[in-house]
Amino acid sequence: MTERILIIGAAGQIGSELCIELRSLYGTENVIASDINLLNEDLVKAGPFEIIDAKNFDQIKDCVEKHHIDTVYLLAAMLSATAERLPQQAWDLNIDSLFHVLNLAKDGIIKKVFWPSSIAVFGPSTPKINTPQNSIMEPTTVYGISKQAGERWCEYYHKRYNVDVRSLRYPGIISYKTSPGGGTTDYAIDIFHKAISDNHYNCFLEADCTLPMMYMDDAVAAAIQLMKADGEKLRIRSSYNLSAVSFSPSQLAAVISKHIPNFSIDYNPDFRQRIAESWPDSIDDTVARKDWGWQHAYDLETIATLMLNGISKMYNNQQTF
Ligand code: NAD
Repeated sequence: MTERILIIGAAGQIGSELCIELRSLYGTENVIASDINLLNEDLVKAGPFEIIDAKNFDQIKDCVEKHHIDTVYLLAAMLSATAERLPQQAWDLNIDSLFHVLNLAKDGIIKKVFWPSSIAVFGPSTPKINTPQNSIMEPTTVYGISKQAGERWCEYYHKRYNVDVRSLRYPGIISYKTSPGGGTTDYAIDIFHKAISDNHYNCFLEADCTLPMMYMDDAVAAAIQLMKADGEKLRIRSSYNLSAVSFSPSQLAAVISKHIPNFSIDYNPDFRQRIAESWPDSIDDTVARKDWGWQHAYDLETIATLMLNGISKMYNNQQTF
C-alpha cells in the first residue's frame, strides 16, 4: 500500500515545496497538507488540506487517524529571529509539537517521523570551520536551544522506544516561491528580490559574515532521500549535519553584480548579526554522505541564476539572467 503522509506546517517556505514533491512521488491524495491557517491559497486548493495547530495533540491525532497516516513531516516551528522576540512561545511550539508527533510514533499510531533541526544547534564555542557531526553544542539562541533539545529527544525516543525518527540539521534554505519565515539567513533571499526591484540591498548582516546555505531543491531532495534510506544504515538518530555551499553577504553580492552590474549593497547589521556570529561558517557532512549517499547539486553560481530568473518571472519582468 502507498505510504500516507501528513505535513504539519506545510504552508511555510520548506513545506510548500516539499508538499509538491511528495505529491508527485506518492500521489496527491496520499499527502495531506496542514497548517494553522488557510493563508496559502495555492496549497489549500492543490490537494487535501487540514487546519492543525501543531501544539494541539488531539488535532494531530484526529487528522492522523482520519487519513490513515503512516509518516509525519513536522515542519511547524518558530524560526531564529522571530524566536528571539518570543522566546517562551518559540520553546512551546518547537518542543510541544515534537513531543506530540514522537508520542504518536511511540504508541504505534504512526510509523515514521521527519523533523528538521538546524545549524543553530551549534554555538560560539563550536569549531566554526567544517563543524563536525559530533562537536561542542552550546547554542545561545532560543531557537538553537529548542532544536538541540529536540535532537536529544529524537535520539532518546529512537533508543528507548524504537521510534523511527529522522532528522537533518538544515543550513539557511534559499528559495523564491514562498517567503522565508523569520530566520537569520533570510537575507540571502531578500537580497535577490531587492536586487531586481531596486538594484540595491540594505543588508542586516556584516559583509564578511559567512554562513552555510542550501538551495531549496537540495533541501527537499535531502529530506526525501533520508526518509527513503534503509533505517539500518542510519547511525545518527539525533540529526545529520547537512551541507551544500557557504558564503558571506559580500561574496553573494559579487555574484549578483555579475548579472546586475549596477547592483549595490550597504551593511547595517542588526540583532541578527549576533545570532549569525554564533553559528558555524561551514559544515562537515561526511557522515550523511557515507550513511545515505547525500550529495548536493546546486552551487552558488547556479543558485544565483535560478533565484534571479525565478523572481524576475514572478514580477513579470522580461529580464533573464
Ligand atoms: P516557515 O516559518 O516558513 O514555515 C513554518 C510553517 O509552520 C508556517 O506555514 C506556519 O504557518 C506554520 N505554523 C506556525 N505555527 C504553527 C502551529 N502552531 N501549528 C501548525 N502550523 C504552524 O518555516 P520553514 O522555513 O518552512 O521551516 C520548516 C522547518 O525547517 C522548521 O522546523 C525550521 O526550524 C526548519 N529549518 C528551516 C530553515 C530555513 O532556512 N528555512 C533552516 C533550518 C531549519
